[in-house]
Amino acid sequence: MSLETVPKDLRNLRACLLCSLVKTFEQFEFDGCENCDEYLHMKNNSDAVYECTSANFDGLIAMMSPEDSWVAKWQRVERFTKGCYAVSVTGALPPGIVRELRAKGRAYNPRDVSERV
Ligand SMILES: [Zn+2]
Repeated sequence: MSLETVPKDLRNLRACLLCSLVKTFEQFEFDGCENCDEYLHMKNNSDAVYECTSANFDGLIAMMSPEDSWVAKWQRVERFTKGCYAVSVTGALPPGIVRELRAKGRAYNPRDVSERV
């Protein structure tokens, strides 16, 4: 797929490495991640946005009613906010963040499924 086929507004999309929520860089910087900002602290922190999101992801799921969606359960996002989610996100959270997650008892399942097949 040529990049020219992607509308300009969509080129800046990034996926959260913890929950795979997809938004633009600006949205992550402005609002943080609705699901994980408690852990990732991306709001008003562009460095954290670069570290905790990835521009390299596959597939896009628009999730409107997570409570009764089997896709949401399959993607383990049924308790997350409505929005667009990536099927697979390439990359990993920085080790410091992973340690913090573990300390807070938040499970981290890497979203990168490309190497599992
Ligand atoms: Zn997130």
